[in-house]
Amino acid sequence: MSEKPFSGDTPEPPPSSRPERSGAPGSIVEREVSDGSRSSAASPLVRDDGAERDKAEPFTAPPTGSLTIVGLGPGPAQWLTPAAQAAIDAASDLIGYGPYLDRIPARDGQTKHASDNRVEIDRATHALRLAAAGKTVAVVSGGDPGVFAMAAAVFEALEAGDPAWLSLPIAIEPGVTAMLAAAAKAGAPLGGDFCAISLSDNLKPWEVVTARLEAVFAADLVTCLYNPISKARPWQLGTALELAARHRQAQTPVIFARAVGRPDEAMRILTLAEAIEAAATADMATLVIIGASSTRLIARPGDVAPYVYTPRSVTKSPCATSQGRT
Ligand code: SAH
Repeated sequence: MSEKPFSGDTPEPPPSSRPERSGAPGSIVEREVSDGSRSSAASPLVRDDGAERDKAEPFTAPPTGSLTIVGLGPGPAQWLTPAAQAAIDAASDLIGYGPYLDRIPARDGQTKHASDNRVEIDRATHALRLAAAGKTVAVVSGGDPGVFAMAAAVFEALEAGDPAWLSLPIAIEPGVTAMLAAAAKAGAPLGGDFCAISLSDNLKPWEVVTARLEAVFAADLVTCLYNPISKARPWQLGTALELAARHRQAQTPVIFARAVGRPDEAMRILTLAEAIEAAATADMATLVIIGASSTRLIARPGDVAPYVYTPRSVTKSPCATSQGRT
């Protein structure tokens, strides 16, 4: 657990409560002037550039930049909120996974810092250091930044990092997350209670994933699966769908929504039995929605996909609606 200089929601602690910290990487170190006076508005602080050193206890002064964690949505520009666009436009520095940064047209005076997809905490720490050094930083994330993405990584780095970073203005601009985009394309599958689970076991044991899946299937929730499959773990989606089949009928609708909003978008509406067979055809650009017991289809005339929806009203308990086979 990192050292906490103060608690509560005070944005900036009183100077006397500041910890003795200086020289943290990337931070701007400032010091109180030698007479210890803080009442003078003229120069309560001077930069630690050697010009005015004092004998008082050093402390890390409030950082001067800002950090916004921006959701880009699933892909198309029209699914980017105006507020997210404004945060991108205002940034001096953009940080993110390379393909996400590529989606943002470069503007004069902006610096892009691309990274690969496996170093979220490093990327978050880098962003905090740049903001502490006075930059207007935007960290970009696909979909919503709070859903299995960079916002949590920033707060993890904040919690473990330089206490001076706690004074930084940090804002989150939400984005359209994949499950909402996928649901909107299919109809209203999330009309009733639902949940989202990442099948990736990079950050949690697979046993935790399966225990949570068992619980949500037993509770008869519509279940959205992020990170359903990868080359390193091609079997997990199939296993998750087989677990679902212990609680749901074979005809339960399952949606494979791939690359929603992008040119290569592919929406497939399957039964649970078909989805088990087709599990290996999903990939990391796919969002899977497994229906609850009440999720159903409305057929449409012609060669068009049916609507998928889950009614809002529920009359039976999960025990009664769970269609267990074991
Ligand atoms: N922050 C993102 C999710 C990151 S986890 C968001 O809010 O959407 C990455 C997973 O999101 C992918 O494996 C996939 O399951 C899903 N995903 C992201 N973009 C998608 C899209 N355009 N279409 C379908 N699924 C997508």
